[in-house]
Amino acid sequence: MGRLKFATVWLGGCSGCHMSFLDLDEFLFDLAARADVVYSPVGSDIKEYPEGVDVCLIEGAVNNDENLEAAKTVRDRTRLVVSFGDCAVSGNVTALRNTIPDGARMVASRSYLEQADLNPMIPQAEGIVPTLLPLALPVHAVIPVDVYIPGCPPPADRIKAVVQQILEHGTAHLEGRQLKMG
Ligand code: SF4
Repeated sequence: MGRLKFATVWLGGCSGCHMSFLDLDEFLFDLAARADVVYSPVGSDIKEYPEGVDVCLIEGAVNNDENLEAAKTVRDRTRLVVSFGDCAVSGNVTALRNTIPDGARMVASRSYLEQADLNPMIPQAEGIVPTLLPLALPVHAVIPVDVYIPGCPPPADRIKAVVQQILEHGTAHLEGRQLKMG
């Protein structure tokens, strides 16, 4: 395969999945030798998600309207979309608010009103502060997903196994309790 256009995106997650990605250590050099990172919150300052991306790892649940737009943009412009970590795969921690009636409002109220030391106020600014969706959703609930990497965060070895398969075969397949290569 030629050089891949590689991207990662950070939606409603804690960035722990991206920290685990950085734990790939020297494999990052192998990746850099075979792929161009065209968009990522780590190691890149590109503002707009480009067209014609080969693979994108999405961290985090779809938690607000900005996340929803970002997920749709990624799907439209990417051949292989990877749900990266448990928040993307199942909602996980980000979706805990789904268990509370009117969870979006309750979480905002708890964070910005009850816990505030100064100026209690729920931030609202159209186009600047994204609006929470009624429920935090796994990525596959809003766009088709091609590959799933479970884990909170996924260990670096698991990320490496998937990325290696993508580099060699253009896609990845995970099955059972152990990763099967190829
Ligand atoms: S899966 Fe775990 S490490 Fe990854 S974003 Fe969610 S809470 Fe953070």
